[in-house]
Amino acid sequence: MNVQQKIPTDESQAVEHLDMADGSKGLHQEEPLIFEIGRTGKTGVDLPDVALTKDRLGGLARKDEIGLPNLSEPEVVRHYVRLSQKNYSIDAGLYPLGSCTMKHNPRLNEKMARLPGFADIHPLQPQSTVQGALEMIGELADWLMKLTGMPAIALSPKAGAHGELCGVMAMRAALEARGEHRTKILVPESAHGTNPATASLCGFSVSPIPATDDGHVDTAAFIEALGPDVAGIMLTNPNTCGLFERDIIEIADAVHDAGGYFYCDGANFNAIVGRVRPGDLGIDAMHINLHKTFSTPHGGGGPGAGPVVLSDALAPFAPMPYVVLQDGAWRIVENNGNESFGRMTAYHGQMGMFVRALTYMLSHGADGLRQVAEDAVLNANYVLEQLRDVMTPAFVGRCMHEALFDDRFLNGTGVETLDFAKAMIDEGYHPMTMYFPLVVQGAMLIEPTETESKESLDRFVGTLRSLAEAAKSGEVERFKAAPVHAPRRRLDETTAARKPVLRWQPHK
Ligand SMILES: *Cc1c(COP(=O)(O)O)cnc(C)c1O
Repeated sequence: MNVQQKIPTDESQAVEHLDMADGSKGLHQEEPLIFEIGRTGKTGVDLPDVALTKDRLGGLARKDEIGLPNLSEPEVVRHYVRLSQKNYSIDAGLYPLGSCTMKHNPRLNEKMARLPGFADIHPLQPQSTVQGALEMIGELADWLMKLTGMPAIALSPKAGAHGELCGVMAMRAALEARGEHRTKILVPESAHGTNPATASLCGFSVSPIPATDDGHVDTAAFIEALGPDVAGIMLTNPNTCGLFERDIIEIADAVHDAGGYFYCDGANFNAIVGRVRPGDLGIDAMHINLHKTFSTPHGGGGPGAGPVVLSDALAPFAPMPYVVLQDGAWRIVENNGNESFGRMTAYHGQMGMFVRALTYMLSHGADGLRQVAEDAVLNANYVLEQLRDVMTPAFVGRCMHEALFDDRFLNGTGVETLDFAKAMIDEGYHPMTMYFPLVVQGAMLIEPTETESKESLDRFVGTLRSLAEAAKSGEVERFKAAPVHAPRRRLDETTAARKPVLRWQPHK
């Protein structure tokens, strides 16, 4: 049943325990699919037959067995516990993925999100019965506007990418209101893939702007590309190379002079929160990933939350709904007679994430949030400096919240970025972000976040140092074979992504 590959190494490196009878290794249990362990007709519960008097399905009722696996309670518990143990998680160890901000999720946030007054209410409940919840949403909105220095906010978008969609739709609505047809959005080559995808989804063509050799957007090229057909720009700051775009005000002014809008991808806000207010930099719209900057859990597909702050120019086009305090009572505004482009979600957004994010803000306070940013930057620079002599930083100088390396230190070793990352798995670490940003050869992007202690960073750095030295001393086979200690070896990730097998078929 197990699909382990044979390890393509010499005898001395063979790991015999990979050939255990059912694929289990030590205390790491192999686990088949639930359909493979469950049988029909075998269950821990007895349900009385339901006396159906009348079939109201119009002849569409299922005729065959439903084919769901039946398991006893202990079998179900073991199945899911074993699966959960196969997941690497921020609760299990350092998660160095760059561009993802995998920081600790404080348990206090979870406790607050489970308060019945927040967790057990319904979005369609009479507003007089949920005043506290609406006030909480209003307070979160207030914190986010103050931290960003922006006058308006849309809370409902459910992820960073959804927030981008919100911001660019507001830009499009504003242009339509001006009676202008602009067709192009400028996006730096280093941008997160969601930026060009968003622009394109909104019907704009995307013009890539090159990066300079020092990892910044090429300001001159940017300004050169502006014109009457440009609807706006999408710029990330700090950018995906982990660097602060110093020319941002010059760029903002140039975009505005050319009649365009400035969308800022705020996914990296955690590097500057409490230090810089994006509103002071001239941006018109920016999403904030609550699941990155404000510590709400993410991964595994959500739920995230991507509120968007908006300038005065775009505020009238913001999506509905929003909350206001009027005559001493909180109210949800569904229609204000303005030029709103509509709604982004059925209700008001990710309530549980709102509670977690506000809890995080209140427990840190304004000064604590500023320290979050400073510590995140400090930790990234610590990693950069500790590895500078054995790995090759992609750019000179300091970084913001992420340390970016290229693959020059692997030149001539036969080891590539992919092998290096896979070898980290054998050492108990989830790999860093690989091959992104695309503008850096063999990129390795590390974001330690502020929640890692110096001891934890030292262990991590020590592991990377020893791997870098092993690569240079010719242990290429070890890298090509890695990972040998993981439940699965090297997977064909491309085929898995392009031709996913999402349905289990019964064995014939
Ligand atoms: C994470 C990220 C996004 C997308 O955010 P999601 O919440 O994953 O949709 C966009 N841009 C940058 C720079 C990011 O790091």
